[in-house]
Amino acid sequence: MSIKDNLLKIKSTIPSKVTLVAVSKTKPVSDLMEAYNAGQRVFGENKIQEMTQKWKQMPKDIQWHMIGHVQTNKVKYIAEYVNLIHGVDSLKLLQEINKQAAKHNRVIDCLLQIHIAEEESKFGLDENELEEILQFVQNDKMQNIKVIGLMGMATFTENQTQIKKEFQHLKSIFDKHPQLTTLSMGMSGDYQLAIECGSTMVRIGSSIFGNR
Ligand SMILES: *Cc1c(COP(=O)(O)O)cnc(C)c1O
Repeated sequence: MSIKDNLLKIKSTIPSKVTLVAVSKTKPVSDLMEAYNAGQRVFGENKIQEMTQKWKQMPKDIQWHMIGHVQTNKVKYIAEYVNLIHGVDSLKLLQEINKQAAKHNRVIDCLLQIHIAEEESKFGLDENELEEILQFVQNDKMQNIKVIGLMGMATFTENQTQIKKEFQHLKSIFDKHPQLTTLSMGMSGDYQLAIECGSTMVRIGSSIFGNR
C-alpha cells in the first residue's frame, strides 16, 4: 500500500473531530510530500534539527508538531514556526517557550505530558506537578504560550487491558480541567483504543509511512 492509501484508510476509521498527526520522523521529504499531496497538513517530528530542515523545504501551510522531548536550550530553533509542542514536562521549559515565542510575536500552543506508563523511562509529570504548573500558568499569565491540553504514552505492551487502564487514567485527569481541549494519546498500535477512551489527537507514524 502507498502512503496515500495508508493515510486515507486511517482517516476513514477515525472520527473527523479527532486530529491526525502524521508522525514523519526519520522519513525523507519525498515521503512527507506524498502525504501532503494526499491532503495531510499536520506533521509530527521528534528531533529539532530534522523538523527545522523539513519546515524549510516544505510548503508553508503545514502545521508542525514537536512530539519528542525538547531541551530548553533548543526551543529557540523552533519558536519561529512550531504549532504545537506535545511533550512539555517542566515549568522551566514552558517559561523558555514563552520567552522564545515572544521574540517572534507568537503564541505557541503546548500540551503537558503526563506520565501514565508503568515504565520508569518515559518522560512526564505526575498529577501533583500538573496541578502546580496549571496553577502557575493561571496566575502568571504568560502571554506567549497557551496550554491547550495533555499528552501521554501508554506502556509498550501487548496487554490491551493495561493500555486501556492507562488511557482511561489520563482521560480522567483531562476531564478535571474543562479549560483543556486537546488530549493527545494513541499511536499506530493503540490509536483505536485511545479514541474509544476519549483521545482527540492521535500521533501515527509507522501505519502511514511504514516501519522505521
Ligand atoms: C514515534 C512516535 C509516535 C508514532 O509511533 P508509531 O508507532 O510509528 O505510530 C507517536 N508518538 C511519539 C511521541 C513518538 O515518538
